[in-house]
Amino acid sequence: MKTIAVPGYGSLEVENVVLDLNGTVTESGDFIAGVLEDLQALRAGGFKIYILSGDTRGNLGQAFEHAPGIEAVVAKTAQEKKTFVESIGPDHTVCVGNGNIDVEMFKVAKLSICTVQAEGATTRAMLQADIVVTHIKHAIGVLLDPDKLIATLRA
Ligand SMILES: [Mg+2]
Repeated sequence: MKTIAVPGYGSLEVENVVLDLNGTVTESGDFIAGVLEDLQALRAGGFKIYILSGDTRGNLGQAFEHAPGIEAVVAKTAQEKKTFVESIGPDHTVCVGNGNIDVEMFKVAKLSICTVQAEGATTRAMLQADIVVTHIKHAIGVLLDPDKLIATLRA
């Protein structure tokens, strides 16, 4: 659990980081360069890491078997993603995603970050997010450096 006080916004107590898989940590099915190392840095920073995917290829668990501490979870719909976030404590959860399937979990999470990068993001996901970034490494960077988060969120 990490507590970040943001002036004019409130206090964030973040325990979980939930990330969409496709278009968020992968591009065309392959991991974005450096993303697994960045996720390990997040984990070392005290966050629990979850990756949600519809697992279309049936290899979700296999994809993360060499990534200790990252829990892969099958969630095939926006509602299933939302239900998962609700089950781990939405008030202590940051969600990261890029598509319409992420909109419902964005609504219940304490903080949501939309990342655009190569596959693009939907306008619905962008409008529901608290923060929009252009690349997953920037989303993780914001979480690792409270000063960046405070500078962006403060009002
Ligand atoms: Mg996606």
